[in-house]
Amino acid sequence: MAQKDRDVIVARAPWVDVVFGTHNVGALPVLLERARIEQAAQVEILETLDRFPSTLPSRRESPYAGWVAISVGCSNTCTFCIVPSLRGKQTDRRPGDILAEVQQLVADGVQEITLLGQNVNAYGLDMGDRDAFASLLRACGDVDGLRRVRFTSPHPKDFTDSVIDAMAATPNVMPSLHMPLQSGSDDVLRRMRRSYRSERYLSILDRVRQSMPHAAITTDIIVGFPGETDKDFDDTLDVVRQARYAAAFTFQYSIRPGTPAATMPDQVPQRVVTERYDRLVELVGEIALEENRALVGTEVEVMFADGEGRKDAATRRLSGRARDNRLVHVAVSGEEVPRPGDIARATITYAAPHHLVADAGVHGLVRTRGGDAWRARQEGGPRGIALGMPSLRA
Ligand code: SF4
Repeated sequence: MAQKDRDVIVARAPWVDVVFGTHNVGALPVLLERARIEQAAQVEILETLDRFPSTLPSRRESPYAGWVAISVGCSNTCTFCIVPSLRGKQTDRRPGDILAEVQQLVADGVQEITLLGQNVNAYGLDMGDRDAFASLLRACGDVDGLRRVRFTSPHPKDFTDSVIDAMAATPNVMPSLHMPLQSGSDDVLRRMRRSYRSERYLSILDRVRQSMPHAAITTDIIVGFPGETDKDFDDTLDVVRQARYAAAFTFQYSIRPGTPAATMPDQVPQRVVTERYDRLVELVGEIALEENRALVGTEVEVMFADGEGRKDAATRRLSGRARDNRLVHVAVSGEEVPRPGDIARATITYAAPHHLVADAGVHGLVRTRGGDAWRARQEGGPRGIALGMPSLRA
């Protein structure tokens, strides 16, 4: 938005100090300083990224979990997406810089890392190493004290067996996979310029489940892409039934100015989009509930998160994430109260479409360094902030 609307922002929001784009995020400290000295808004947008800005100061939102960018931009050209025209082609960050940031975060108390990129599976392609992302996952497995590694987003086009093997073989890489589908219709995928087809997509999920039977798979789906017919939409429902997602982020297609799809013929009427969307959400919810119900009676490892969980009159519950990233509300009482960042085991007693409940309490509570870091921040102590250390949220 900043890149696209630049001067309009300053005109309409005179309190803004700096308008910059994703290509010169590394210049932010300098631009802020210049705005302060000149007492005037600074607008600076670069058209290309020279190199990945690995040495920005940062303030971390969470003392026990962190995002680590591995690339910026995207070399794909999906017709509904504005990213390629604004962020440019994918630029990868060097593995050494990524691992240095991961190690520094862990030293500060962080124990869960999410590797972040528009298309993490294309990581390393410009270095000529198709397996670079798999190697990165394995390298994260060697970082002492790093308990959980996640990543987003993969792309079905570039997803390789080497990534599945690395996930399965690296104990701290979590058994959860967010694999964007967008549409189950091959015709729509073609018009979206997504170069995989539904058969290949489903075969990836099969291989993931063969290697990690308990992996939770989530997705993104767009309903009502231009030209989507009833048959196309049925194809999407069909893939959803086969894929058995733990959750899906569902979107009603709407025109994004500047994208190729915005000017495509056969835009689907809103009434039709809404009706299909409702049917999709219902199906996704039914399947997620069935999958969650299958977990009732099983024991999961929960890492607790910040913020109070759900409460009813009789029960105090704290919320956290299972290893497969499912949201779990856990009843706690007495002295065994976990802090955010702590880890415990809990038995699932109830399932809903979007969360699980564990009302039998916790056991095996581990007071982690992440929990210590959270406590220290509460008390105004060391905040786990690495000023001057490499960091970027894309
Ligand atoms: S949808 Fe994702 S893969 Fe496609 S162009 Fe946008 S960022 Fe790239």
